[in-house]
Amino acid sequence: MSNTAQNGELFVVSSPSGAGKSAILSRARADDPSLLFSVSATTRPPRKGEQDGREYYFLERDEFMRRVDAGEFIEWAEVHGNLYGTLRSEMDRLAASGHDAIIEIDVQGAASLREQACTMVSVFIMPPSLEELERRLLGRGTETPEVVALRIGNARHELEQYRHYDFVVVNDDLDTAVADFKAIIRARRCRVERFADVPEGGVRAAIE
Ligand code: 5GP
Repeated sequence: MSNTAQNGELFVVSSPSGAGKSAILSRARADDPSLLFSVSATTRPPRKGEQDGREYYFLERDEFMRRVDAGEFIEWAEVHGNLYGTLRSEMDRLAASGHDAIIEIDVQGAASLREQACTMVSVFIMPPSLEELERRLLGRGTETPEVVALRIGNARHELEQYRHYDFVVVNDDLDTAVADFKAIIRARRCRVERFADVPEGGVRAAIE
């Protein structure tokens, strides 16, 4: 199965909840609007400010499972008690665009794509410590204490998975983590494969 665009790359990004993945990715997106993001489906209720079709497609569990049965997901997993999945239609949209694209999925989702031999670059965002992770999760106030406890419990297992990824970004200082993440994208854009079909117009046209 080929699911990267001819000129674009698929960056699969995972991290334990609270490691700062969203902050890093939103900064990367603001700095480089050509980056596309996959919109996943989930059964988790929307948080304040989240919009259907923008952060996620929010689905009832029955509808989610109906789509699973219909083969609409390239991968899906239960994460912290809710279902999350990447729609094939989203992957097709990203691939057809020819742009670099990012999908944020948990460690199970990334493992599933790896098993399917997806062409991808995987990046693990690592918190500086479990204590810091808990402090950030409690501080952001978007989850109940029970949900925070569940997410911290899951983080221990998730952290062990980092060794299966191509790159690790430690998010101790946000600016440094953003710079590291952008450096990974930049390095991939400099790979010789991206220059395989240099048009008459020159190399710039081939990578933009
Ligand atoms: P949150 O509820 O905080 O938005 O996301 C919780 C977890 O679900 C995060 O680790 C996130 O990466 C993961 N997640 C989001 N979308 C998907 C998806 O499409 N597939 C999988 N496997 N995990 C996802």
